[in-house]
Amino acid sequence: MAQIASEPHREGLYLHFPYCVVKCRYCDFNSHVEARPDTTRYLDAMLREAEMRGVRSPRTVFFGGGTPSLVPAGELRRFLRELDARTGYRASAEEFTVEANPESLTGEFLEVALEGGVSRVSLGVQALDEPTLRFFGRAHDSGRALEAIGTARRAGVPALNIDLIQGAPVQTRAAWEAGLERILQERPEHLSAYDLLYEPGTALGTLHEKGKLEATDDRDRAASFLWNQRRLRAEGYRPYEVSAFAQPGFECRHNLIYWRNEPYVGLGAGAASYRQGFRSINAKEPRRYVAEVEATGRATTSSERLRPLRRAAETLMMALRLPEPVELAWLADRAGVGLEGELAQAWERLVVQRLAMPPTAGKIALTRRGRRFLDLVVSRLLEASEARSG
Ligand code: SF4
Repeated sequence: MAQIASEPHREGLYLHFPYCVVKCRYCDFNSHVEARPDTTRYLDAMLREAEMRGVRSPRTVFFGGGTPSLVPAGELRRFLRELDARTGYRASAEEFTVEANPESLTGEFLEVALEGGVSRVSLGVQALDEPTLRFFGRAHDSGRALEAIGTARRAGVPALNIDLIQGAPVQTRAAWEAGLERILQERPEHLSAYDLLYEPGTALGTLHEKGKLEATDDRDRAASFLWNQRRLRAEGYRPYEVSAFAQPGFECRHNLIYWRNEPYVGLGAGAASYRQGFRSINAKEPRRYVAEVEATGRATTSSERLRPLRRAAETLMMALRLPEPVELAWLADRAGVGLEGELAQAWERLVVQRLAMPPTAGKIALTRRGRRFLDLVVSRLLEASEARSG
């Protein structure tokens, strides 16, 4: 936890590009399918918002979505130039990630991105077997995914992340393992292996809710989780967050800002910000976002100052994603309160359930079982923080 405790903070900058070519069946991100989105107008709105909200010298930049690789190369060049003029990110950012999807990633896009200071590309591969890709409703097949990895390598992307999702009921263990082995041959600097979640309102979530889709057995998921850990460690990757694996020095600095509950500003439709103890969220629908920014320079729909206990619960829920134990002094310093009141009681209950360990030498940590059921742990902590604030 020592490295978590120290740094004073310049904020991270998140930019959201909300358009995609299809809506994947598991997706609950703020993504929209439009035949001809007005990309120029949307990017201009983000530039205006950057100016109005006083974004200067960000520590990291993350251009996510949606599918930022849909932005035409010429538009991207102009956008990055203008963004730098407003924020000075070229001189300040330690890392600049752009998200891409295989069906739209081109060498030209990457050339412009790298010229503009992008240092990391995160590619949504998700799987390398056709039944799983079809089940997810992805717009690419495995051949296109491998081609996109080749395109990124040829362009000289310094750090490549591959996103994968496991737990599809149509995917056999053998198919998952073969897919991961094939990815390992490409030696990406970073890998993210997420669990498939059936989020309410998504196509798969609705089927699941109606009982038309059985989730993968928990024991199978746990076995895959352990297999991934073993296999990736053997290849020199360090699991530095529940779903993230990096070769040494290639941890995602922007995501570490979230996991350490440090400040960040989000620009674009539905983007969230966390600045000076306030959490704020932008209008979700892209047209509304653009219209509001054009009219007033901002599109914030809600802003709340987090109460100390809530801040402590949120800080904890993010920090517990990392492998290091959480220092209670750091928690108190960051949130204004430590492990107290309802939060301390919730922690004791987690200890009884063998999900967490009792505080030792001023530090707390989850058990291996707690890390496996992190979502459950997080919801217990958040419930506890609501109990007092409600
Ligand atoms: S490409 Fe990503 S953001 Fe777009 S719909 Fe699919 S999962 Fe959602």
